Amino acid sequence: MEVNLSTLLNPYFSHSDLVGLLLSEGDQMQALFARANQIKSVYTGSKTYLRGLIEFTNLCDKDCYYCGIRHSNHAITRYTLPDTDILAAVRMADQYKLGSIVLQSGEQSSAIFVDRITNLLHSIDKATQGRIAVTLCVGEQTDEVYLKWFEAGAKRYLLRIETTNPLLYRSIHPQNKLHDYYRRLDCLYSLKRIGYQTGTGVMIGLPGQSVEDLADDLLFFEEFGIDMVGMGPYIESANTPLAESQKEKLLPLKQRYELSLKMIAALRLLMRDINIAATTAIETINPQGKVYGLQVGANVIMPNLTPAIYINRFQLYDNKPVAAGNLPDYLGSLESHLQPLNLQLGYGESGTSAYFESRKQFEANC
Ligand code: SF4
Repeated sequence: MEVNLSTLLNPYFSHSDLVGLLLSEGDQMQALFARANQIKSVYTGSKTYLRGLIEFTNLCDKDCYYCGIRHSNHAITRYTLPDTDILAAVRMADQYKLGSIVLQSGEQSSAIFVDRITNLLHSIDKATQGRIAVTLCVGEQTDEVYLKWFEAGAKRYLLRIETTNPLLYRSIHPQNKLHDYYRRLDCLYSLKRIGYQTGTGVMIGLPGQSVEDLADDLLFFEEFGIDMVGMGPYIESANTPLAESQKEKLLPLKQRYELSLKMIAALRLLMRDINIAATTAIETINPQGKVYGLQVGANVIMPNLTPAIYINRFQLYDNKPVAAGNLPDYLGSLESHLQPLNLQLGYGESGTSAYFESRKQFEANC
């Protein structure tokens, strides 16, 4: 399919427009990237927001077929960071003015887990005197729990839908109540209703996934009114059912990488002022992938602050790049890549999505 380049100037995109953008190659793909970069600089500016990622436990009750830390994977060593280590990572984020952190874990719903997160939110607020914005990425919970954490200080939540095709979703999860597509969707709506800055994302290049599915994903983000998106290529994880059973259906890594960049660029055209992360999975295929992501529409980057001794144990997929290492060195290296692109790191900024600000304003006026 040929891309009509005038499509790039549209403020609205149909499903077939998006499919065309996702199939673009060569000069047309470069034109898509250039347009997305232009729109990004007008609508979100030249700052890249920083989110310090703390992967605080790889314990998970669920069994998603694609995930390296799934409950049934007995080949990995489980860990849980003590609160003191989590708070040390938060203080480091504060010291280097990252402005925000993401607390990520496998999914658990016990009362002990819920109370632990609640207490941590209070401790983080106290330790940083409210300077650090917290995003939670700890899976599906009840409305009551989401509300409890919101009131304890978490104002952002990331819950990846992974794919918006319910049949594809079923094919990558066990068929039981714990892995129900519609339950996950309900959780996203709950988060938005409660008032969270709501984030989601999908995997790109799943076995059996079509570009039409991906165009549907993009339209879902728009229709839902999502505030932030983190999406990246599907990368196989050894010892998982999906990696072992569907190898022959996989796109080559290079195609998954390019498709991921095109998804970021197309989303920037579709939702001009949301936050879009350049995810670690892109970097797994190309070490410069995050920087490329920032050149085609992404405006958020997530340095990993998980202590080095644990980081290899949070392997959602194979060959995941390791920690930022020494944080000041990592930030310095990032700056040196971004400077020639006229991009700066948003030190000290919580990086609220402009889309979220407008959405709240609109809701307040209704
Ligand atoms: S994707 Fe998330 S919920 Fe599913 S097994 Fe992995 S950590 Fe658990």
